[in-house]
Amino acid sequence: MPIQSKNPYTGEVLTTYSEASSQLVENAIEKAHFTFQTWKAKPLEYRVNLLLRLAEVLEKDTEALARLMALEMGKVLADGRAEIEKCAACCRYYAQHAADFLKDKALAAPHGKAYVQYEPLGVILAVMPWNFPFWQVFRFAAPHIVSGNTALLKHASNVPQCALAIADCFTKAGFPSGVFQTLLIPSSSVPAILADERVRGVSLTGSEEAGKSVAAEAARNLKKSVLELGGSDAFVVLDATNLGHVVQMAAKSRLVNMGQSCIAAKRFIVHESVYENFVSQLKGIFKSVRIQDPLQEGSTYGPMAQAHLAEELNQQVKQSVQMGAEQIGVGYLGEAIFQPSILLGVKEGMPAWEEELFGPVASVRSFSTVEEAIHLANDSRFGLGGSVWGQVEKAESVARQIHSGAVYVNQMMASHPAIPFGGVKHSGYGKELSESGLWEFTNAKSIWVA
Ligand code: NAP
Repeated sequence: MPIQSKNPYTGEVLTTYSEASSQLVENAIEKAHFTFQTWKAKPLEYRVNLLLRLAEVLEKDTEALARLMALEMGKVLADGRAEIEKCAACCRYYAQHAADFLKDKALAAPHGKAYVQYEPLGVILAVMPWNFPFWQVFRFAAPHIVSGNTALLKHASNVPQCALAIADCFTKAGFPSGVFQTLLIPSSSVPAILADERVRGVSLTGSEEAGKSVAAEAARNLKKSVLELGGSDAFVVLDATNLGHVVQMAAKSRLVNMGQSCIAAKRFIVHESVYENFVSQLKGIFKSVRIQDPLQEGSTYGPMAQAHLAEELNQQVKQSVQMGAEQIGVGYLGEAIFQPSILLGVKEGMPAWEEELFGPVASVRSFSTVEEAIHLANDSRFGLGGSVWGQVEKAESVARQIHSGAVYVNQMMASHPAIPFGGVKHSGYGKELSESGLWEFTNAKSIWVA
């Protein structure tokens, strides 16, 4: 696959880039390594001020950056603007809290004085996906750069303009040039970078397959890795509490970013007493969705990010239907266009239950007892997020029994700078965001003075 920028709504190739030569990659690693020595030694206040400037640059450039996302991966303008605002808020969050997260932590030693000192690790490689092309990168970059690391970005090959624009934001904010660099490289270049002694860790957000490959390379080279992989989050409806609102949230949670979100609700597990009502309301919302040009002001839904993603989703739907599921909605309309659909009668063994559906298709099934709902929610090889809806005490008790990186009660699953984010099982390991995320690429060094 070339590094190509292509409009998924029109199919027009916008621009193609040749991949960076090995000499260019070598220069970037050396620059990142060299810059690390001075960057980590700067007073924290200096790094914090640059992060605040970065937030301002993002806000100033919001329109242009939202437009780039619409062009390259089909995100509607309103969602693109919200994504950039969230990136700016993330920068401000770490600017505000870095001093607290990075300060020495006293330890209860049996004698003398003991504490943990947080040191940055060095050059960290970020391998990132196209679905939230700015957010995924900023939630990585803000904490790890403010803590004193330097970063190299290998972004998804279909969003090179976004990748270059991100590096440009750092330049405009006044960061020293080796602090954050974008490399336009294919995934086959990643192993050599991980084998380089100057690179000290890798954070990958992407598919299970990419995670396994990058984790193996990181392990071979004894490097720290954080993996944020796929999900098949359960959306559990326990009773009729606020059902109209719950269905609205169900639709929003499934259709966010045209269904292309790791923490989108994917498996809807609904109590039999409200099942018919839930399905009928969800059908109405899905049917009303109009797919439009994401560049057009006011569009609320656009195409999927690439035609092959819509085709792959269609295969998963067709196979599930062959195995007995019932499809509601027209679904695949060719190229990158996929009309939201519901699958009823989804069972174990079907792709709609076993795999991640990375697009606007909701798998729905009913349950009769709370134990069954918990069993179904946990019946997935993924464990990224999830949500439980209903009477609060009961819903919270169910949430505590779901094996996942996060479960929200009576609210839609969404990432927030203050809330640790990261999965279990095949959804990966390690955390992003909050202080837990910042500490992932630090050395928590123990000092004990007798
Ligand atoms: P992907 O194909 O795995 O690509 C993600 C990144 O990994 C891209 O930069 C890709 O580069 C690179 N890559 C792919 N295979 C690789 C390999 N063998 N070695 C090194 N790098 C490799 O995933 P995607 O299609 O972009 O994103 C969708 C997936 O990401 C879904 O499964 C979704 O759930 C997951 N995701 C997870 C989170 C989370 O926080 N847990 C957030 C968003 C998305 P190329 O583009 O050059 O192949």
